[in-house]
Amino acid sequence: MPTETFEFQVEARQLLQMMIHSIYSNKDVFLRELISNASDALDKLRIEALRDDALDADVSDLHIAIEADREARTLTIRDNGIGMSHDDVVRLIGTIAKSGTGEFLQQLKEAKNEAAAEGLIGQFGVGFYSSFMVADEVTLLTRRAGEDKGTLWTSTGQGSYTIATADEAPQGTAVTLRLKPEDAEDRMFDYTDPAKIREIVKRYSDFITWPIRLVGQEPGGDREATADGAEEDGAEGEESGPQGAGERPEPETLNSRKALWARPRNEVSDAEYHELYKHISHDWADPLEIIPMRAEGTFEYQALLFLPSRPQHDLFSQDSKRGVQLYVKRVLIMENCEALVPDYLRFVKGVVDAADLSLNVSREILQQDRQIQLMHRRLAKKVLSTVKEMKAKRPDNYAAFWRHFGAVVKEGLLSDFDNRDTILGVSSFATTNDAEQPTSLQDYIDRMKEGQQHIFYMTGESRNAVESSPHMEAFREKGYEVLILTDPVDEVWVGAVPEFQGKELRSIAKGEAGLDGGEEETEEAKAEREQQREDYAALLTWMGEQLSESVKEVRLSSRLTVSPACVVSDQNDVTPALQNLYRAMGQ
Ligand code: ADP
Ligand code: MG
Repeated sequence: MPTETFEFQVEARQLLQMMIHSIYSNKDVFLRELISNASDALDKLRIEALRDDALDADVSDLHIAIEADREARTLTIRDNGIGMSHDDVVRLIGTIAKSGTGEFLQQLKEAKNEAAAEGLIGQFGVGFYSSFMVADEVTLLTRRAGEDKGTLWTSTGQGSYTIATADEAPQGTAVTLRLKPEDAEDRMFDYTDPAKIREIVKRYSDFITWPIRLVGQEPGGDREATADGAEEDGAEGEESGPQGAGERPEPETLNSRKALWARPRNEVSDAEYHELYKHISHDWADPLEIIPMRAEGTFEYQALLFLPSRPQHDLFSQDSKRGVQLYVKRVLIMENCEALVPDYLRFVKGVVDAADLSLNVSREILQQDRQIQLMHRRLAKKVLSTVKEMKAKRPDNYAAFWRHFGAVVKEGLLSDFDNRDTILGVSSFATTNDAEQPTSLQDYIDRMKEGQQHIFYMTGESRNAVESSPHMEAFREKGYEVLILTDPVDEVWVGAVPEFQGKELRSIAKGEAGLDGGEEETEEAKAEREQQREDYAALLTWMGEQLSESVKEVRLSSRLTVSPACVVSDQNDVTPALQNLYRAMGQ
């Protein structure tokens, strides 16, 4: 079988150059990434085997093995998971499908200084490519479960890679790194040292549910020095620790495999939670909030949810990955379970571990399941109460959260009637009161002027467009605060939410805005208005005729102070921006 050579896609090539020149300050994370991929592959195989009885795969001893050859200076990370087909390898390893990569590279080019660049890089996940931080050649041998031929992929990370068919390949994937010769003398980068490997696995991958075994080690030597942990708290590990000298030493399991969500909050460090988050979300940045949950009684479950510190790039795309991982008694049965979290909280990551659900449920059945619906409700409430708490106690976190996810959360005003008031309560809005600081509705109400009856808002494309609108004039004159709503979703929910805390929400661009707050008009003012109406009747009729194609009616207004005229909508009309939104959605 001939060996084919392929070019890396342009973006992939750029990222590889970054790896080769080691701009990440912490190279150790390459091992975390490879273990994370191996663990995902094992999860996928088990889930597929659960669904498909006919799958010709061995699931009897799923595990990850790390094999170091000190002489040859190679390191192999092996799993017997789902593996990849020839096409999978070309698609998944040769290109970077991750959206936002181009944008990231652009930002990187524009970074003002090295610190800024490093900050960016540290947050951008490069997954498999991080191997090239420590290796000058990477070989990947893989066979997809159920197929009989394997694929051998090799690259030095310089522009191209080769692929050949392998007749003999074990199920799963083995990634072999030829470690860079220039790191040979540096103990910091001695990734063939068992002590170093143990330390990295403990730090980044301890919670991984599959056994991570160190194989092929000489017995004795430096093993006893760090072989702690695994024995004392290896409650869920089936094997542990060195077994003394023998012909072929038993492999040592490096991780404790404890489910973090099953442990009490005060026994788990934030660093441990963060590593779990990074594994689940494929995010390289720490999460903003950690939300542990536990329910006991007839229907038991534990959950560990995370709010990310920044949005994933496909947050607004139809087919973005959403949902949390669903476990049943420590066994992962579904990776992105959408039925557990409402769509307007789709950025939430985490794990839900239920005590009694069938291992074999399909997505369709889950949607109907009473227990799932109950968890869904509790999870939504818990996330919202966490946001509320952030708002009260951790204003900086809250501000960052709202900046990134506010537009998504507001979708809940349309879909989650039960939690509408809670959502309104945790929402913030730009306002004419303060150009920098958004306001909550409660604070708006507390600032309302004497005689002001309603909460006023205006929707539009930008703060600027709203502020310079003629509709604004009379409100500015009166000193009434106006909320400036510029997210596309704002156009929609304002039509569905009539009031907050008994105060009506009123658009200043629609019908009778109620500027006068319902005060009685004086006799004098009334007479003056009547007079004006008579004076201008002919003009108004003429204008109405001229503009009959475009407007329903031309009338005198008391709302303008500077501009001669403005266009208003009826109370129930679709606003121009909403018309655009509908058009964009193809309706
Ligand atoms: P990510 O894990 O964030 O998707 P990676 O660069 O780490 O990005 O991996 C790219 C893809 O390559 C994975 O999504 C997976 O489909 C595939 N892959 C990587 N390693 C393995 C493996 N050990 N077994 C099976 N597939 C793998
Ligand atoms: Mg990965």
